[in-house]
Amino acid sequence: MPDDHGFVCSCCGRRHPALPMAYHAEAPIHWAGRLPFSRRNRLNSDQCVIKGETYFLRGLIERWAGVR
Ligand SMILES: [Zn+2]
Repeated sequence: MPDDHGFVCSCCGRRHPALPMAYHAEAPIHWAGRLPFSRRNRLNSDQCVIKGETYFLRGLIERWAGVR
């Protein structure tokens, strides 16, 4: 098994030799690519609104992963 922990970056499209520092989904599972965009159904890189009543915001949780 190769010792390759690299990944292809979704931002720049290049391969980076380290582990990714962030993981995220394009949209909440509730969006599922089925909803037509409208004032009540919105999706962008930071927020998702479904039927004008369910709201999702992208958050960042920093986690220390070093060794003491
Ligand atoms: Zn990159």
